[in-house]
Amino acid sequence: MRYCFEVMQTTDVLIVGAGTSGLRVAELLCESKVECVVLEARDRVGGRLLSTDQGIDLGASWFWENEPDVISVNRQNSAEAFDQYLDGNMMFQVPGRVERLDGNPLGVPSKRIVGGMQTLTHAISRRLPAGVVHLSTPVIAIDFDERGATVDAEGETWRANRVVLALPPATAINLIEITPELPEALVSVARKTPVWMGAVTKVVAVYQEPFWRKDALAGSAMSHVGPMREIHDLSDPNGSFGALFGFSREPVNEVTAIAQLTAIFGPQAASPLEVMIKDWSKEKYTSPPGVFQLNDHHLFGSETLRSPHLDGRLYFTSTETALDSPGHIQGALSAAARCASALVRATV
Ligand SMILES: Cc1cc2nc3c(=O)[nH]c(=O)nc-3n(C[C@H](O)[C@H](O)[C@H](O)COP(=O)(O)OP(=O)(O)OC[C@H]3O[C@@H](n4cnc5c(N)ncnc54)[C@H](O)[C@@H]3O)c2cc1C
Repeated sequence: MRYCFEVMQTTDVLIVGAGTSGLRVAELLCESKVECVVLEARDRVGGRLLSTDQGIDLGASWFWENEPDVISVNRQNSAEAFDQYLDGNMMFQVPGRVERLDGNPLGVPSKRIVGGMQTLTHAISRRLPAGVVHLSTPVIAIDFDERGATVDAEGETWRANRVVLALPPATAINLIEITPELPEALVSVARKTPVWMGAVTKVVAVYQEPFWRKDALAGSAMSHVGPMREIHDLSDPNGSFGALFGFSREPVNEVTAIAQLTAIFGPQAASPLEVMIKDWSKEKYTSPPGVFQLNDHHLFGSETLRSPHLDGRLYFTSTETALDSPGHIQGALSAAARCASALVRATV
């Protein structure tokens, strides 16, 4: 550790990660007057929420009516929600053939946010007192002792009473050197817990307008061909551009993506204004190496990850630790509520 050469800053609770969960823990702690800081590796907040300036989501885009924490935070943020476009028929692609189905069985009612989903974390971050969130500060080592922990982040060293790991557990174990060694049972569960959507590439093709709607198509498709297996409409709610997005777990590039969209939606799909490809498996601060092999989703919300460790000096929170909607933004928020309330209860 390099901390002997640097000025050591102090806090009660140090939160690693300014994604949805980490920022929400910070907000709830601040409301309860518990001192905290958030150290974020990237130069932005949001983690798996990532929206372009046009409000195009390259990470999460939907929330659902049965997600109380998301609805409540959106209300607090004065966020403007709108319905996912579902009207019309769905396309179905199998080798050598594309069919038009009657209706849109892939279309589950859901909602999106004007400006993109990352506005959720921007809003929480703006409500936090100045100096709480430190961007571009990746935590590389944590050394626990009987009174707390010394945290080594690139460029900053902190002394904290308690540490919250607000990132996918498998990513935390991969990126952060923790001493002394954590119990084997905890390390094993953390290492094996899948990273939700961590093995997925999201492809977005932007068009002048949502041309498929004129043909009574919903912009949705299922494919047994690939590279995208599932496709949806991601158009601007005010009609200023059309967009289609797909999820892929296999190699995909602009050429193969456009070819597939053209095969499914016709020649107008061949000339997008822009194609954006975000491979989350290559994002060091989201997915560990081997993310494709992490498939035991029963580990989500495990008791091991929900419990405090090291006599209340170490906590995990992230959507993967939630009992309620693990994987979703709702899970990240409900895990944060659980974690923050345990921290507040334990504050002396
Ligand atoms: C393509 C895609 C589509 C999705 N679609 C949906 C959807 O439609 N609806 C939905 O509800 N959910 C969806 N999700 C899931 C949703 O995005 C997540 O549930 C949620 O964002 C997780 O938040 P989190 O805070 O738990 O973790 P994260 O958002 O991963 O936050 C972890 C944070 O920790 C930071 N970090 C990592 N390592 C370090 C380190 N060493 N030091 C400091 N900071 C570090 C990261 O940079 C990140 O900011 C999707 C995800 C993806 C990738």
